[in-house]
Amino acid sequence: MSTNQSLQTRKDKVIARGQGNVYPVYIERADNAEVWDVDGNRYIDFATGIAVCNTGHNHPKVTQAVKAQLDDFSHTCLMINPYEEAVELAEKLTTLAPGASEKKAIFVTTGAEAVENCIKIARAYTGRRGIIAFNGGFHGRTNMALALTGKVAPYKVGFGPFPSDVYHAPFPNEAHNVSVEDAMHGLETLFKVDIAPQDVAAIIIEPVQGEGGFYPAPAPFMRWLRQRCDALGIVLICDEIQTGFARTGTLFCSEQSAIEPDLITMAKGIAGGFPIAAVVGKKAIMDAPLPGGLGGTYGGSPVGCAAALAVLEVIEQEQLCLSARRIGAIFTESLTRLQQRYPEVIGEIRSVGAMIAMELVEDGQANKPNTTLTQAIIGKAAQHGLILLACGYYGNVIRFLPALTISDALINEGLTKLEAIFSDL
Ligand code: PLP
Repeated sequence: MSTNQSLQTRKDKVIARGQGNVYPVYIERADNAEVWDVDGNRYIDFATGIAVCNTGHNHPKVTQAVKAQLDDFSHTCLMINPYEEAVELAEKLTTLAPGASEKKAIFVTTGAEAVENCIKIARAYTGRRGIIAFNGGFHGRTNMALALTGKVAPYKVGFGPFPSDVYHAPFPNEAHNVSVEDAMHGLETLFKVDIAPQDVAAIIIEPVQGEGGFYPAPAPFMRWLRQRCDALGIVLICDEIQTGFARTGTLFCSEQSAIEPDLITMAKGIAGGFPIAAVVGKKAIMDAPLPGGLGGTYGGSPVGCAAALAVLEVIEQEQLCLSARRIGAIFTESLTRLQQRYPEVIGEIRSVGAMIAMELVEDGQANKPNTTLTQAIIGKAAQHGLILLACGYYGNVIRFLPALTISDALINEGLTKLEAIFSDL
């Protein structure tokens, strides 16, 4: 019989270490915000497969939609014989994306692919070469997405050279002593020193840096960026792969800055675990590439489209944007109490909706990241039946990404487990 241990031994023999796993916990079944491993252990899932199962594991409506689609057909290729599900999903996403401009969509399979396609579209539209991303950002593991990504280890190590014409600007982050004014100044300096704005095709930004540590881009900076991009003819891309689909308390996080991005990347929470991703953006920009220039064999799979349509329905019917805000408030209150009890090791608590982060530090000092303790807590959490995940430049941020359908009872049970881990330190 397979056990966690036996499966980890088998995995280590046949799956390359580059695709390593955080825990030797092999999941057998899942239900909403809980998962069970092959050894029969139960876990409360505060990670949801990295912000993917926003509607919870196995939401009955999503499962039903997928089963029904599989009964009809599973693949024809959107580029050969399209189907209504893709058209309907595009109609919904272009309506729901922030801003009043007329929009169009394309479908791909992964977040990184959505990012790659945004860059292609922005270059085709502007005829310019330069792309600006931000320090501390993460955009995926394909070659261009890695070039855009700010964090070096482990993502970029050994994989260069990366595509050229990519530049990095400072991200406004008070915790790292970069004010909004510093970030504005940094971008203007980049325009003067590194690349003239008339050569820049696009600027890509995460409204809340995800892998980077859950740092929100302040609304005044986002609005300034929007104005600068308008003035300079630069395409503004919001990477909403982690922030999208109600996670931050609005369907898309850029709504909270009251800006309309030119292009938005969507993946992760879009379909509750079915690999589908999208780029949605202003019609004239989206239509710049020639027919056949975008897409792929599996892009916009009918099963993914069916799942995504069900996810959108659940988000609306179950008011998951409201839930994200409520969940964020519960976590923030509880984690702040924990921080007051353990100020030596717990640093800043921050959240945007249900994207919640807790920094771990040494000697109560914000500038002393405690990566070792973070890893220890994540390991202990698994033993206590709690799935946690780290992020941040130094890997010293615990990020909480619970299902937006999680009950208050399960949140409290999970947070009680976390308290027990701290009291055992
Ligand atoms: N962009 C952001 C903001 C992400 O958080 C991620 C994944 O974590 C990606 C892009 C890459 O998405 P994928 O892993 O689906 O390629």
